[in-house]
Amino acid sequence: MRRLPAPVPPAQHEVTASYISRLATLHGLDVNDLWVQVTRREKSGGMRRVIVPERLAALTGRTIHALAGALPELRDPQPNWAMFRHQPQTGCHRCDSKHPGGKVTRLLPHHRYVCLRHRTWIGPPDVNQPAADLSDIPAIVHSQRRHLRILSRHGWAPTYDAVLTAFSFCGHIWDIANPPEDRRHVWHTWDARARVLIPDDDESTAFRAYSTSKLFAAVYPEAIDLAALIAAPYWRQRASGTLIEQFQFLDEVSRRISYPYTDKPELGDAIAHWAIADSWRPPSSPTNTYSPARLKGILPPLHATQARRHEQSALWFSRKRKAGSPLLRHLHVRPVIDRVWAPDYERTEGAIWHSKRTDQQFLDQTAREVNERRTPSDPNSPTDRSSPDTTLGLS
Ligand SMILES: [Zn+2]
Repeated sequence: MRRLPAPVPPAQHEVTASYISRLATLHGLDVNDLWVQVTRREKSGGMRRVIVPERLAALTGRTIHALAGALPELRDPQPNWAMFRHQPQTGCHRCDSKHPGGKVTRLLPHHRYVCLRHRTWIGPPDVNQPAADLSDIPAIVHSQRRHLRILSRHGWAPTYDAVLTAFSFCGHIWDIANPPEDRRHVWHTWDARARVLIPDDDESTAFRAYSTSKLFAAVYPEAIDLAALIAAPYWRQRASGTLIEQFQFLDEVSRRISYPYTDKPELGDAIAHWAIADSWRPPSSPTNTYSPARLKGILPPLHATQARRHEQSALWFSRKRKAGSPLLRHLHVRPVIDRVWAPDYERTEGAIWHSKRTDQQFLDQTAREVNERRTPSDPNSPTDRSSPDTTLGLS
């Protein structure tokens, strides 16, 4: 294999197909030809192909070690893919500007939301729009640092679940029908941040600037406030403890966010629901994991359903500036909306509705599950102390 004349380096966390595509563009080569040259068929005999590190090293004149430092797919042994998002995405456009050859697509770990160097919002995988500038909202930048502290204290799995759970709470809170009269309600904070990120001059400006990723940015500081509680074993135990302990938990929640967030308890309460049904179970894991093997060197475009949803959400938001539903329907929070132990719903709306249920039927069902958990025949049965009280003053 001949070495390319201008073998630019890969970007940090870049997907190998993205790197090869840039190399092909820079040298006027066909992407798929180059892809076939540096890959081989999967051992399982399928049509998909995996990278041969030695060939990429020969092509670029870079050592495998140096390439693997940037390209997660080249690492040996392979990384634990559950620690990464399952969809590749674009990152910070200012970081990318020093990497020639076209779009840089990266596979980021779950905790990466902000480029701290350039103060830009990267967010979850979403429609590929340029990262949003956060110079006017430093609280969002600072929250990335607080997020990393939660990560180093509790590890990736509890942090992953806690941040997504907190995002889902924010989605439910922002979803309340009318703007709350109380100007101190967090709804107004998010609305104000959203107006910076998605200008409201007119409908078409808002439509073009819209991405659900920016709505995640608007709630990120409060999501991290709540994630610090959700990830902490102490507060999880309080949330699933006796009635008094549960009130201590909700009291702590109310110090961090407007809670109760609506004066209409009959509409449900996502935070109380979590305390009763989820806080005593293990953190939810990612539903999908990334697969390094692929058919072609060209990265597939955005998932069709996700693109359609973006269109609908953009239209809905530009007209009504309603943000709760797009957040709750985004694929990013699906693992905590549709938890493994929650009932199966055919439509997302059903799962979203369930995730804030606090009605009597739900309480009775959860009480039965808690009792089953208490049966002495189970050697892993927890002590009564950690068994949740399902009343929570709601029945
Ligand atoms: Zn950057």
